Amino acid sequence: AGMSSEYLEIRDLRVTFDGFKAVDGVNMTLMQGDLRFLIGPNGAGKTTLVDAITGLVPATGSVTKSGVELLGMKVHRIARLGVGRTFQTASVFEDLTVLQNLDIAAGAHRGPLTLLRRRKEVLPGIEEALEITGLGRHRDAKAGVLAHGQKQWLEIGMLLVQNSSVLLLDEPVAGMSSEEREETGNLLRRIGGERTVVVVEHDMDFMRAFATSVTVLHAGRVLSEGSVAEVQADPKVQEVYLGT
Ligand code: ADP
Repeated sequence: AGMSSEYLEIRDLRVTFDGFKAVDGVNMTLMQGDLRFLIGPNGAGKTTLVDAITGLVPATGSVTKSGVELLGMKVHRIARLGVGRTFQTASVFEDLTVLQNLDIAAGAHRGPLTLLRRRKEVLPGIEEALEITGLGRHRDAKAGVLAHGQKQWLEIGMLLVQNSSVLLLDEPVAGMSSEEREETGNLLRRIGGERTVVVVEHDMDFMRAFATSVTVLHAGRVLSEGSVAEVQADPKVQEVYLGT
């Protein structure tokens, strides 16, 4: 794929809960290679926006991936089109090994495969995910014994083997040690490049270190967007964060 061929275009996205506008006309364009941080105060609509993109809540407007409209599609179809997400609490199968978790994720959208197809189409992706996430030497460990950070990386690996090209990560470094944060940032850089990564995050130091661009949500709308420096210098953002 050439540069900028894979992206997500969000137009006038709206989500309403009982008349309450949780997402109130959001426009966002995500280019291939973006490591976009989505920040904003509690209740700004960050999780709801991710839920709408991934089909978990009904929304109006438009969300297209490489020109294909996603709104109205079922969750699993959106995932199959390469838009994957993680949740704040890692949802790995604790009693299964790292390898088995990746295997299930890889097979989840393919149906039963012949051994030959499995060897040709699935295993290379699993090896790549092990390499990118640094979990190779834990491949035979039960996911349940992994450290908190490693479980998050496994979940990201599970998106990679599903060929997700847009990854939406909900507070991936919450509860992590500073070493784990650093490793997670490097992991996000490694998976960027040909993919698009959106990180919902509260950790401003983490954002400053790794974001290539930032969108600030406030009251369901985009308050500010740009580079880390641009967003930090925006008086509207300072007002929201310092509280007036
Ligand atoms: P953030 O992730 O930025 O903290 P959320 O997307 O979780 O914000 O929530 C945005 C607003 O929508 C909040 O006011 C929240 O209370 C409300 N909200 C979220 N989900 C629901 C729901 N299922 N029903 C009603 N209100 C909701």
